[in-house]
Amino acid sequence: MHEEIRVLDHGFVRLDDAMADDLSVVNSARVSFGRRKTEMDDTDVKLINYLMVNRHGTPFEHNSFRFHIKAPIFVAREWFRHRIGSFNEFSTRYAEVREPDLYIPSEFRTQVGKPGAYSFEPWKGNRDKIVALILRDAQDSIDMYNHMIQQGIAREQAAEQLPLRMYTEFYWTVNARSLMNFINLRNSEHARMEIREYAMVVESIWAERMPVTAEAFRNNQRVAP
Ligand SMILES: Cc1cc2nc3c(=O)[nH]c(=O)nc-3n(C[C@H](O)[C@H](O)[C@H](O)COP(=O)(O)OP(=O)(O)OC[C@H]3O[C@@H](n4cnc5c(N)ncnc54)[C@H](O)[C@@H]3O)c2cc1C
Repeated sequence: MHEEIRVLDHGFVRLDDAMADDLSVVNSARVSFGRRKTEMDDTDVKLINYLMVNRHGTPFEHNSFRFHIKAPIFVAREWFRHRIGSFNEFSTRYAEVREPDLYIPSEFRTQVGKPGAYSFEPWKGNRDKIVALILRDAQDSIDMYNHMIQQGIAREQAAEQLPLRMYTEFYWTVNARSLMNFINLRNSEHARMEIREYAMVVESIWAERMPVTAEAFRNNQRVAP
């Protein structure tokens, strides 16, 4: 079991398990020539760079990372758009939501510019006042959820009342090729800040397991092969 790495105010990323190393990339590429190695050397580093630059992507698929993630629902919703991977999420049909954690931003931002060219600047208003209103509103939703359950309404229908800022948990299993696509898009200045925080942690966990691949990716404009 690996440790939970904290993200945002109540979230985490935890690597549940992995079957991954740089050698799997070179060996799956070299099987074309009937060759297999047990240790990396300089020619393997060059081969990984060659595969990355020339976008020979399939050798980067023979590995697997299984993450356990706790994130606000609105982050999970963006994450689940990454179709090349497997997901399982906490169910509001099978389990009751008890005292949900809510994401409260440490600061608010304001959106400046036009579609396609937005920038986000710090919002200068009264944060405490907005947070108090958010908490009151969220509590109303949670109270309504509990009331509906007490009235005998199905959990899944009561859950429609819960806010998007509530945290959910899910498992995500993904290979390095798809993970690079995720990192390229989500650990990017164009991505929403909240999912970017998660993508940064995912990138560091992946890079620890596949350092040569990660370096080749970073030296190649962070484009997934
Ligand atoms: C900054 C940002 C803003 C976004 N804004 C919006 C938005 O306003 N509205 C919105 O709906 N989405 C939005 N998205 C989500 C985006 O459109 C993608 O759904 C998401 O990033 C997943 O990317 P993907 O399809 O490359 O990943 P995956 O689904 O993991 O796919 C990986 C790769 O597999 C291939 N692939 C997968 N499925 C298919 C397929 N059906 N056909 C052909 N090739 C396939 C593609 O090469 C793809 O790049 C945004 C994403 C980002 C990063």
